[in-house]
Amino acid sequence: MSSGDAQPRPSCGVILQNKMAAYFCPHCKIHATFKSQGPEKVNWENQLHQIWRCNNCFGVVYVRVRTEPDDLEFYPSLRSEARDEYPPEVRDNFGEALRSLNGNNPKAAVVMTRSALQAAMRQQDAKGKTLKAEIDSLADSHAIPPAIKDWAHELRDGGNLVAHPEPDKTVETQDAEELIALAESLFEYLYVVPKELERRRQRLAPQEEPPPSE
Ligand SMILES: [Zn+2]
Repeated sequence: MSSGDAQPRPSCGVILQNKMAAYFCPHCKIHATFKSQGPEKVNWENQLHQIWRCNNCFGVVYVRVRTEPDDLEFYPSLRSEARDEYPPEVRDNFGEALRSLNGNNPKAAVVMTRSALQAAMRQQDAKGKTLKAEIDSLADSHAIPPAIKDWAHELRDGGNLVAHPEPDKTVETQDAEELIALAESLFEYLYVVPKELERRRQRLAPQEEPPPSE
């Protein structure tokens, strides 16, 4: 085993430079460019560790870049987990969508958002052979209101664009961000609002027994 320092692979800087323009700032929450502060540091796992400064808010982030697989980790971290209120399958797929978006992979983010949507429709006992039919079945049975149905179809269309690309259309980060935001609104309605209502009712429910007096 070599005792010498690990050397950066030639691609490291290229990967970093190409990705500089495509990240969400955990401070100002927008899609911003960053400027690297100081030299790259490479550790024994052949990972880059850098400090970046947001060109919009000048907030500082610590970034770890793995060169293989090509992914990044931010501290403070970007949101990478779906909410606990979601059912497990929805949460798994949507969490992966968030992590894909963080990793600058909008296509994968859109595909996983669509998978989360499909999992949600099945969890709601939707009927039908296609996602389109499942969404319509939930609307027909009044499980979801018309506005939510339209959102769901919008998500489905976004997912279809990745699965069946059209020549003059590409999936951009903005598309993935918008679809993820739509999905969150949908899941908020289906899972978070009912749980919050339940929590509120429990809080306001009259106590069955008064606390014992001392
Ligand atoms: Zn910023």
